[in-house]
Amino acid sequence: MTHRILILGGTTEARQLAGRLARRADFSVTLSLAGRTESPAAQGVPVRVGGFGGADGLAAYLHADKIDLLIDATHPYAARISANAAEAAKQAGVPILALRRPGWEPVDGDRWTLVDSVAEAARALGTAPRRVFLAIGRQEASAFEAAPQHRYLIRSVDPVEPKLAVPDAHYLLARGPFPEADERALLESHGIDAVVSKNSGGEATYGKIAAARAHGVEVVMVRRPVLPDVPSAETVDALAAKVDHLFAPVAERGV
Ligand code: NAP
Repeated sequence: MTHRILILGGTTEARQLAGRLARRADFSVTLSLAGRTESPAAQGVPVRVGGFGGADGLAAYLHADKIDLLIDATHPYAARISANAAEAAKQAGVPILALRRPGWEPVDGDRWTLVDSVAEAARALGTAPRRVFLAIGRQEASAFEAAPQHRYLIRSVDPVEPKLAVPDAHYLLARGPFPEADERALLESHGIDAVVSKNSGGEATYGKIAAARAHGVEVVMVRRPVLPDVPSAETVDALAAKVDHLFAPVAERGV
């Protein structure tokens, strides 16, 4: 019997999980991407792209495609799709598991200013001109047009279009991982005195946080949104184990 699994992805872990589950002959795995990135990394399993049309649309898709398990492996700041996933799974009566990468915790030497939104981050930079490294992706970068006094270094996977209506912005196109040594060099060469970051967690983008700590640079950290409470695991391995358990023959499941 084939078990049909839909993974909501867009993250490195989603891709890893898909590859891992696809190795099992009795799993049919599809990965879903929002379609934000112009040339997403190769995913290694069948991919579908684009929104479903809210929770109702996703529930209809789960039903029509006879999905046996929905896995939410989206980015921790993609709160809408996670809420839709929880709601759709309930509506369609399909089990759901979430891959929830833990956030970073501040350690000695960190200078974090915690804010609840990107707009608040722009205000938290203050009125005096600063040299700011924006490492929050391109989707919400325009919020910093409200603080045009600063000089911005803006890094994203795809180009920020339109460019920000601020007098001094430098754009950098790059895809992680970003090692600490490179991030230190970047902060230094641009004379950065504030980093704006989301609390993505994981290793791939932690380099800027460690680099900021090493240089005594403030990090304006946008707090994570609240996500629905569904069964979850923190790592690809732990989630794959839950999936194996869910679909193990009854005799192997234990209690
Ligand atoms: P979102 O606000 O939660 O989702 C908005 C809509 O996009 C959803 O309602 C859904 O449309 C569609 N969607 C999202 N993920 C999808 C998926 N895997 N498959 C199919 N449709 C999907 O999420 P977002 O707009 O993608 O991102 C929100 C924030 O998260 C951004 O600020 C971004 O910075 C951050 N983010 C970062 C990364 C990253 O760094 N790797 C990746 C993703 C997001 P329908 O309602 O029509 O189904």
